[in-house]
Amino acid sequence: MSFSVQNIPGEEEAARIDSPIMDYLHDLRERFAGLDAGDIADYIPELAKASSGSFGISMATTEGHVYEVGDSRHEFTIQSISKPFVYGLALEDNGRTDVLKKIGVEPTGDAFNSISLDPLSGQPANPMINAGAITAAGMVMGHSNDKKINRIMEMLSAYAGRPLSLDEAVYLSESHTGHRNRAIGYMLRNFNILEEDPSETLELYFKQCSVSVSCRDLAIMGATLANAGINPLTQERAIRGEYVESVLSVMGSCGMYDYAGEWIYKVGMPAKSGVAGGIVAVLPGKLGIGVFSPPLDKRGNSVRGIEVCNRISMDFNLHMFNVVQPGKSVIRSAYDGSHITSKHLRNAADRRRLQQRAQCIRIYEIQGDLNFSTTEVIVNEIVNRSSDADYFIVDLKRVLTLDQSACRLFFQLLLKLADRDKQLLFTNADAWPVLGKYMQRRLKADDKARWQSFEDDYALEYCESRILDTGEVTPVETEIDSFELFDGLTADEIDVIGSKLKKQAYRQGEIIINQGEPASQLYLLAQGQVSIKITLPDGKVKRLATLSPGLVFGEMAWIERSERSAAVTVDVEAFCYKLDIADFDAMMVDHSAIKVKVLENLCRLFSRNLRKANTEIGVLS
Ligand code: GLN
Repeated sequence: MSFSVQNIPGEEEAARIDSPIMDYLHDLRERFAGLDAGDIADYIPELAKASSGSFGISMATTEGHVYEVGDSRHEFTIQSISKPFVYGLALEDNGRTDVLKKIGVEPTGDAFNSISLDPLSGQPANPMINAGAITAAGMVMGHSNDKKINRIMEMLSAYAGRPLSLDEAVYLSESHTGHRNRAIGYMLRNFNILEEDPSETLELYFKQCSVSVSCRDLAIMGATLANAGINPLTQERAIRGEYVESVLSVMGSCGMYDYAGEWIYKVGMPAKSGVAGGIVAVLPGKLGIGVFSPPLDKRGNSVRGIEVCNRISMDFNLHMFNVVQPGKSVIRSAYDGSHITSKHLRNAADRRRLQQRAQCIRIYEIQGDLNFSTTEVIVNEIVNRSSDADYFIVDLKRVLTLDQSACRLFFQLLLKLADRDKQLLFTNADAWPVLGKYMQRRLKADDKARWQSFEDDYALEYCESRILDTGEVTPVETEIDSFELFDGLTADEIDVIGSKLKKQAYRQGEIIINQGEPASQLYLLAQGQVSIKITLPDGKVKRLATLSPGLVFGEMAWIERSERSAAVTVDVEAFCYKLDIADFDAMMVDHSAIKVKVLENLCRLFSRNLRKANTEIGVLS
């Protein structure tokens, strides 16, 4: 008996503990190995050669982790398990409408080889019984039978993630004895469901049933369906995503023939069995299971295979209708603009005005997957808060997936808020082009500008600026006595300090301070706007703050007498007053009172910055 676990290719396997999942599968195999009910299929003579003791179990996740125990690499013929996959190829080749015209999707409760054709139209009930599967094989495109079987083999190989081959002996054996299937083929020809001589299509069908697979292959094929059609190990697409749901639907309703109802009730996973003893089961979004054990029950399903799937489903709560809510809320944190302000620092008057009104900005940090249910939670929260606020910022930075239903809900919400003159804004939406495209496609020309996506905290800054922009005329230039740094100075003292200040104008884009250079000046921004930015070790530039008139900058290195830790560049044409550290030091002799007052103000400024940082850490954690 062989045991192995394989992770994402390339991962080191040596000196690692065995996965608990391996222990579990090992126990499971031991537990059911003794179950010797069932008979090996012998209606295809070559199948009768299988050993009733062969028993392998494999499980593959959509993360690309594969677990396997027992005879997991033993090859057997895929048989009826080929049916859902070939049905998928027929859908890709012909489109859903044309396929549905020929093959129904109603479970019959009959055996796999039942004739089950509609008495009037001759339409097979579903693609999982032989009649439907032979029809599906007939719908695979290709100029010759060789081309068609090659396409089927390539498709199955893409699912398995390795080149599969044909078991000639089993194929010939079935071809020699497949009279019942021939009868079905001719019935289909009679009703014009098959439009040409059925013998070619029957050979194609016998061949597709004779492809060799292991139960490890089946688990990976199942995981590929679970992973929206992309093989999680090779990342190759095996089927167009839009058809995966159709394939899984017919597996869910008809995959286990006349046992399908009880199977979906108990195990709760779309599945397909084959007469060689294989079963594939799929838990959408999560995993695929492959089991191999030849003895079959009266319905043609592997006895041990059914027990194993049943047990795995129960032990790990995998029934697809047993959907547990994700433990984490989709809203990671929610706060308003009075708790956190943007990196745009403002003078005392603006800060006060913002403080009074900033509750009208609501910020939502979102995490995880955005689908109908999770987006509904966000939309419901914003709707409930819609009378409290005017700006709603949705930060998508920690979102893992975002689907069309999320786009649709956000779009409707944006329109509804706009009706009330309120705005829905997004942060980090560039990572989700599907959302931007959805909005741009549906917004009317006049409304296009309502879709706004920002980086970093620019959405918050935008809202703050909108709040402050009340039409009041802001002073063109900050007078020296209006700087907070000079609070408490008498008129005479202002004159003294004023005489030490040097005025300088800067053009837009100009660099006032370079990161790393020695510091000798303190800057007071009298007009315009500047930004403080650092270059990170990886070369990326990060904005630390943007400053409005009335604020000082360069104070940290100035007081520490160290190098500049960040650069300062001009956003909007500016002029500054500069205070030289040597001049400030010299004031100790004749103007110590001024120096003390300025240092006190500087302390207050440091304290305020620290307080802002602390609040933000508190709110954000
Ligand atoms: N080739 C087999 C047949 O048509 C497949 C049947 C099966 O696996 N259930 O008879």
